[in-house]
Amino acid sequence: MSVKVSHITKIYGEQKALDDVSFEIGAGQVVGFLGPNGAGKSTMMKIISCFIPQTEGSASVQGFDTVEQSIEVRKRVGYLPEHNPLYLEMYVREYLSFVAGIHLKGNQVAKRVDEMVDITGLAPEQHKKIGSLSKGYRQRVGLAQAMIHDPDVLILDEPTSGLDPNQLLDIRQLITSLGKQKTVILSTHIMQEVEAICDRVIIINKGKIVADDRTDQIQQLTSRESALEVEFESTADVSRLRQIPGVKRVQEAGKNKFVLYSDANNDLRSTLFEYAVANNLKILTLQRSESSLEEIFHQLTGKKGGK
Ligand code: ADP
Ligand code: MG
Repeated sequence: MSVKVSHITKIYGEQKALDDVSFEIGAGQVVGFLGPNGAGKSTMMKIISCFIPQTEGSASVQGFDTVEQSIEVRKRVGYLPEHNPLYLEMYVREYLSFVAGIHLKGNQVAKRVDEMVDITGLAPEQHKKIGSLSKGYRQRVGLAQAMIHDPDVLILDEPTSGLDPNQLLDIRQLITSLGKQKTVILSTHIMQEVEAICDRVIIINKGKIVADDRTDQIQQLTSRESALEVEFESTADVSRLRQIPGVKRVQEAGKNKFVLYSDANNDLRSTLFEYAVANNLKILTLQRSESSLEEIFHQLTGKKGGK
């Protein structure tokens, strides 16, 4: 097992950030931690990278305990923090040489920096100051820094947040290619990111795991249902909407608005129309929406369903 987390709880003062979390990640997997702000994603990543200790439970990387054998763990983990604090006054090569020097012998530094510049696509910017780089290139510097000691496990905390759409695609591609050789754990609150990059998704909410499955399994789960959003002119009775043939469940989505769920192959539109006519209800809008990973996420974390 590349990463093993068992019964981890983390309490900051009074705040329980992680609550009895366990999972295992095999070598070479690319796993997404998906969850809203405050879910505990960063806390989990900091514990695995030995930046903070847990309150209870244990974590290990390649069999080394993050508390008892933290030096061994640090050798095997590359960590890109959420708000990657770079030295803005330093030049790209200067900074990477500095980081490489912590891990490598002096005569190996320049070669390793060359390799990292190459792998992360930093060549055109390598002689600039970090402060003058775009956010996308700064993230590349962050990734180069995280990988400079060739760790087995890469931990990337919200690696694409704040990037523009082009930079986002570039960085996702870079992470995908890095993921071919490494175990990668990345955190995000964007479902598409998980779909684009990860084999597996661990959904976290309020410090607990609410789902842990292959990304394609989660996608299948979502595509088993279809959702129909309806807005009536006046109020409708939820319990009667539930009794419409084919309706599996109903969610209130605003004033006189409801989302009706059915099996994916069951189109409720005509049935609903008949129901409205029979009950003297006027339909203002009617919209079919395919449920997405986002929908599942909202269901699992107990928030109102999005579209
Ligand atoms: P995420 O990365 O999913 O947004 P975090 O792990 O950063 O979540 O935070 C989880 C919870 O722990 C939040 O409620 C947050 O406010 C709290 N928290 C995080 N760091 C600290 C800290 N250093 N001191 C106190 N509370 C913290
Ligand atoms: Mg975070």
